Amino acid sequence: MRKNAVREDIDSVIRRIEDFGYKIHTIEGEERVVIGAIGVGDTSACLESLEAMDCVEKAVRISAPYKFVSLEFKKSRTVIRINDRVHVGNSEFVVMAGPCSVESERQILESAELAAKGGAHVLRGGAFKPRTSPYDFQGMEEAGLKLLAKAREHSGLAIVTEVMSDQDVALVASYADILQVGARNMQNFALLKALGRCGRPVLLKRGLSSTIKELLMSAEYIVAHGNNDVMLCERGIRTFETATRNTCDIVACAVLRELTHLPVILDPSHATGKRSLVPPLARAGVAIGADGLILEIHPNPQKAISDGAQSLDPAQWFHMMEDLQPYLALWKKSRLAEMGAGGV
Ligand code: PEP
Ligand code: MN
Repeated sequence: MRKNAVREDIDSVIRRIEDFGYKIHTIEGEERVVIGAIGVGDTSACLESLEAMDCVEKAVRISAPYKFVSLEFKKSRTVIRINDRVHVGNSEFVVMAGPCSVESERQILESAELAAKGGAHVLRGGAFKPRTSPYDFQGMEEAGLKLLAKAREHSGLAIVTEVMSDQDVALVASYADILQVGARNMQNFALLKALGRCGRPVLLKRGLSSTIKELLMSAEYIVAHGNNDVMLCERGIRTFETATRNTCDIVACAVLRELTHLPVILDPSHATGKRSLVPPLARAGVAIGADGLILEIHPNPQKAISDGAQSLDPAQWFHMMEDLQPYLALWKKSRLAEMGAGGV
């Protein structure tokens, strides 16, 4: 729509698209409204008819299979508001830190304090855990969610936590600020559809053997079902390499920024599986222009129930954040330049 389009204009365009038999998906940005039309068949008559309307700036056919999440569809970058202080995809690099799993009240409250002290914006912690073995700790479930809510109260940090089943979406959304889709669930389509209606931002992790296109198609599911607030997460993929737990496809962060307007988060913990490799990979994430990091820290990694080997201890965490500062200053400079150039 043109920048000055009013409600009546928008409604008239929506009616015309519907008359052609297409389904509507509207994105109302601060600057302008973008109306998406989804359907099959010959689009040229509809495009021509829309182009003829004064309030329409441009009518285009999106060639990418992931329509709404493509940069082709929406040129301005999506900024996701988590709470009053935290916005992902804007001029602030966002750090999410915390243990792999919520283990106890003491552990999560201590973790929250550490995360806040180190400068994180969001506390992570799994209450529902996707474990390879059915005999491993499966998470504290709702009791864990309650502890996360308590940790949010104590620390002021927002909460990100995983949801594994469409049946748990409402429950997890009632506690969390961001709902995480784990790598193993990236193509759980029932879950993705339910997240379209959850009313909370989603952190969608790339599947272990998924292509970038498949990741974007999964994001498209969530957006097409009504939720525009999706962040994508590179967390390493499975290759022949065994020196690291996964192989970080670091360039995926840059590829994604060329293909989509959605924010991109890097997880250096699951990408490497080894705490000594987390700080250098985190630096790479900043340098390549990711929008933020999600990483594992633990008050006592030796005692962690899950992913202790890749969790930073308090001293390493503080050190890493201090070490990142000059890189973050450069990141900010280049992000502001990009935004000034009309990037956001
Ligand atoms: C996690 O964040 O602890 C997790 C299980 O991540 P992933 O789904 O990327 O393996
Ligand atoms: Mn983990």
